[in-house]
Amino acid sequence: MRHCTSLGHPPHQELEQALRDVGENPAEIPMHEFKRIRCELAGDHGNEEDHAGYVCEVNVSTQLWVRWSGEGHTFVLLAPCPDQPNAQDAAAVCHLFAGHDSLCSWAFRG
Ligand SMILES: [Zn+2]
Ligand SMILES: [Zn+2]
Repeated sequence: MRHCTSLGHPPHQELEQALRDVGENPAEIPMHEFKRIRCELAGDHGNEEDHAGYVCEVNVSTQLWVRWSGEGHTFVLLAPCPDQPNAQDAAAVCHLFAGHDSLCSWAFRG
């Protein structure tokens, strides 16, 4: 399984505001990395309305993500996905958010 290939283009000022809202300093963040942000979901998530790109961690239980469809971008705070591929490998975690569409991230590396 491969990644979704959609790229988001979050408006610069809205991204800065979203970062400030969670206590981050945009001046300390490589903002150019967010000019194009790749959808982190699996390629078959199949919902053109609902791509999702990771922005930053806010705390251990909260992450800032941007979701988009077409030109519209929405910044959302989401909890990390709690799923693990197996109980023996505690280091293996899903890099997506709780309740995401389609497969967990370990299932579609590459
Ligand atoms: Zn997508
Ligand atoms: Zn997951």
